[in-house]
This record gives sequence, structure tokens and C-alpha cells, in this order.
Amino acid sequence: MSKLDPILTRLDPEAGILIGGQWRRGSRSFDVDNPADKTILARVADGDKTQALAAVSAAVAAAAGWRDTSPRSRSEILYRTFEAMRRDADEFVALICAENGKSEADARAEVGYAAEFFRWFAEEAVRTGGQYGEAPAGGVRTVVTHRPVGVAALITPWNFPAAMATRKLAPALAAGCTVVLKPAAETPLTALAVARALEAAGLPDGVVNVVPTTDPAEVVTTWMESPQVRKVSFTGSTGVGRHLLRQASERIVNASMELGGNAPFVVAADADLEAAVDGAMIAKFRGGGQACTAANRIYVHDSRAFDFTAMLAARVRALRVGPGTDARSEIGPLISSRAVENVQGLVDDALSRGARIAAVAEIPDNLSGYFYAPTVLGDVAPDAAAVQNEIFAPVAPVVTWNDESELLDMVNGPEMGLAAYIYSRDLKWAMQIGERVDAGMVALNRGLVSDPSAPFGGLKQSGLGREGAREGLAEYQETQYLSIDWS
Ligand code: NAD
Repeated sequence: MSKLDPILTRLDPEAGILIGGQWRRGSRSFDVDNPADKTILARVADGDKTQALAAVSAAVAAAAGWRDTSPRSRSEILYRTFEAMRRDADEFVALICAENGKSEADARAEVGYAAEFFRWFAEEAVRTGGQYGEAPAGGVRTVVTHRPVGVAALITPWNFPAAMATRKLAPALAAGCTVVLKPAAETPLTALAVARALEAAGLPDGVVNVVPTTDPAEVVTTWMESPQVRKVSFTGSTGVGRHLLRQASERIVNASMELGGNAPFVVAADADLEAAVDGAMIAKFRGGGQACTAANRIYVHDSRAFDFTAMLAARVRALRVGPGTDARSEIGPLISSRAVENVQGLVDDALSRGARIAAVAEIPDNLSGYFYAPTVLGDVAPDAAAVQNEIFAPVAPVVTWNDESELLDMVNGPEMGLAAYIYSRDLKWAMQIGERVDAGMVALNRGLVSDPSAPFGGLKQSGLGREGAREGLAEYQETQYLSIDWS
């Protein structure tokens, strides 16, 4: 019996459509595989338009009760879910390693991060706030309150199957919204486990409804066209986000978009190279490079480029590639064969423009999944496709820079603006450059930028809105004021 069997028996993914507190089968089901060896992990209920509509009806039916539940009670359910995710971390890790393929260390870090959203928003749920004011001309009092925006449609990607769900669920529930959730078809199992944890924590029926599907356009379009859905929160590619924004414009639906990235990683002439290489290993290779915040293009001052590339190359050559389910693996597979073809095309383009391969990690012969060898590319042309587009794979292109204004032009060239990383011993310089970088999040002398207490989100085509922090709660609230005759 595999480690997953008891977890899957409890999850019962073939009845993985959750509507109004009932776990249901669909008229079809689909396979979820392990990208490390293409074996089938489970069959999952495949939702369609009928279930999408039923999920909205259930969310509508539960809305008034949840909105009127005291903030303290809502907070306690979120806190219990945080405790359950911490207690059952091993199970979440096993699910993520199997269906996403990432390493155990990366999966454990994700589960910790994912659970923290429940703790953070359990704490925020009770700080409802508001304002009271006197009109300047007198005779009127104004009371400003925040109310839940209404039924929210949450759509999540496969690369962080736990955290992308909790980063939306926790603030939505804290704000008093009921939701319909559609996880990615590649990784629905972890989302089902999160829903089970909420259920066990005492969440009332219908507050969270989950519809896994292989036809995202059908399910999500049904939600976007439903007059009762007042909010869409999407994490995924910019192309699908743009499509959903068009749909949202039809009924003026409140939209939050966490879209693609193309993060620059800047190394200044005075940087601590050891620290910069440590940071690059995290920023580039976490989750096999399949993070929206992944360092996508590494700009190193030309006085340090040779040393930096050699140091990074040595670390990458030593990476242990293997299935996420093997605790010794540091880098797992990509999510699909398409992802492997995509990165190969980007590497070929860079090489054809003069880049050189500085390092390639070894892939053991016995692996049959969607593996791509972690690679460092040196002397990459600034206009190479791998620099201009999101790589989403363990390939690190190093570009050299010399002049500060040229650096900023290169950094701010792409239309993406999610995260950026800057390494320098001169903190003032790093902050001044950071303020001029088009990115919603800038990490100075560290390779990790995400934190539930900080507002996560991007500029330009990387998205609209923020997740986490107070800002994350506001995404699920409408502002209303009462104007009172005080004469
Ligand atoms: P994707 O856009 O293909 O899929 C994301 C979600 O959208 C999935 O649930 C998918 O089923 C659904 N979807 C696909 N087509 C749809 C349609 N026509 N209508 C409605 N829903 C549809 O993205 P992906 O490949 O799963 O994820 C990778 C992308 O996500 C990368 O670009 C990455 O940068 C981005 N991402 C961004 C963030 C962030 O916070 N900004 C976080 C993680 C991932």
C-alpha cells in the first residue's frame, strides 16, 4: 500500500464535487497523474455546467447565514483550519509531491505558507474596522462600513496547489463571502484536502463549494455569466486572465488577477556573491522554477558575472533531480510534456543567439516523467526569448550589465511586473533601484518575497489587486456608507 492510499480513501476524489456540504460524483471523471512517472494517482469527479450552477445556488443559499455569523466564529473556523493543516502537514506534503511533483522540502514550505493564510485571516477577520465622520458643513454624520462583496468565484493554478487556494479562501471567508472554487485539473487533490479541512473545522454547508473539471471554460463561464457571482479571483496565466477580465466586464464583476511573472534578479558590483547565489538558488529553482515569482532573468554586473556564473553553475550541477515523492530529490519534474517542449525552445533560442551552457544537472536514467535538467546559461542576449518570456522551468539565464540606466531599461522592458530581486551591500542604492523597478514586490538581499502578512501582487500585465495582508481582505469587501441626518 502506498503512503497516499489512506489519504485518497479518505478524500474519495471520485466524489470530489462539493456542493452545499455534499460530496458528489459527476457524470464523468478524469485521471490525475504523477508528473514524475506518469502513473495515475486517482480518478476525480469531473464537473460540468449543471454542477457549476448548483454550486452557485449553494453559495447563494449559504450567503446570508455566513455573512451574519459573528466575526469571532468565522475567525475560529479559520484558526482551526490553520491548526489542522499544520497537524496534517505530512498528508498535504504527500499529495503535493505526488500530483505536482515538487520536492518534499518545497512542498513542506508550501504547506507552511498555505496554512499561514488561515492564521493571518483568522486574526484579520475580527478587525472589521470602519469609519465615523462629521460632514464639513455640519448636520450630517457618515458611517463607513465594509460588507462582503458577495459570492466569489476562485480559480487556481497547479503550481502551488495548496497556497493558491488558501490565499483566496482565507480572506474570502474572513470577509464573510461564500465561494465556488475551481482548482486546476492537474492538481485537484490538494484543494479537496483543504476543503475537507475546512469542513472538519466546522464550516457551514455551502460556504465553500468545489467543482474540479477538465472543462474550465464551461464551468468558469457559467460562473461569470451567473448574476449572483459578484467577484472573480483568478491566479494563472495572463492570457486566461485577460479573457476573464473581458467576461467580467459584461456584468462589471469585481476582479482580482494574479497573473504571469518575469522577475529580474539583479546582482550589483558590490553584492555579497555567496548570498546572491544562495538567493538565486531559491528564487530560481524553488518548485523547479515553476513559480510566478521565479527569478526569470539574472542581471549580473559584468565585473562579477564570471565569478557569479561559476558559483551558480557549481551549485546547479550538484542538484539532485528526482521525483518529489523521494525525500532525497531537490528538483522534481515539470508539470507536462508541453512544459518540457516550451523550455527546450527557449534554451535553443538563447543558444542560437550566442549563449553558452555553463552548467547542466544530471537526470538519472531511470526517470520517465516530464523532467528537464536544471541549467545555467551564460552570456545570454538581453533580447533572447528566455529573457523576454516567462520560462517556468529550472533554467537560469545570466545577462551582464554595466550601466545603471541600461539596467533599468532591461529590467523594465517586459510587460510583466510581479516580483524583482536586488542584491547589493549598499541598501540605499538597492532601495532606490527597487523603487524604480516596475514590480509589485521587490526583495532586497533575499531570494524569497512571499509573505501572508504582505500584499502579494503585480503591476502591468502581472495583474490587478493584492492577496495577503489587509489589502487581501479588502479584495472581498465592498465599501458602503450611511449618511445620517444630524440636524
Ligand atoms: P492557466 O491560466 O492555464 O490556468 C490557471 C487556471 O485557469 C486553471 O485552474 C485552469 O483550469 C483555468 N483555466 C484555463 N483556461 C481557462 C478558461 N478558458 N476559462 C477559465 N479558466 C481557465 O495557468 P497555469 O498554466 O495553470 O499556471 C501557470 C501560470 O500562472 C503562470 O503564468 C504563472 O506565472 C501564473 N501564476 C501566477 C501567480 C500569481 O500570484 N501572480 C501565482 C501562480 C501562478
